[in-house]
Amino acid sequence: MNRHQRRRAGKMGQHNDFYNQYVRHLPRVAIDAPLERGRVYHTVVQHDDWCAFYDDKVCNCNPIISRHVEPTRE
Ligand SMILES: [Zn+2]
Repeated sequence: MNRHQRRRAGKMGQHNDFYNQYVRHLPRVAIDAPLERGRVYHTVVQHDDWCAFYDDKVCNCNPIISRHVEPTRE
């Protein structure tokens, strides 16, 4: 792999690790549901592997968007 390819793979890996190891285990909420004050949400945008987003450019795919919510701490 050249420098560009390594950088691209690194960027993809970081995003995927955070999603796979953490965010995807949180409860999922509808993307158009109103947000509740005081809660922490993760909005996940899943790009296709070939998307220009991973080259630090504007997204040119049709990403899958989902939202997850952190549990409340009481
Ligand atoms: Zn994209």
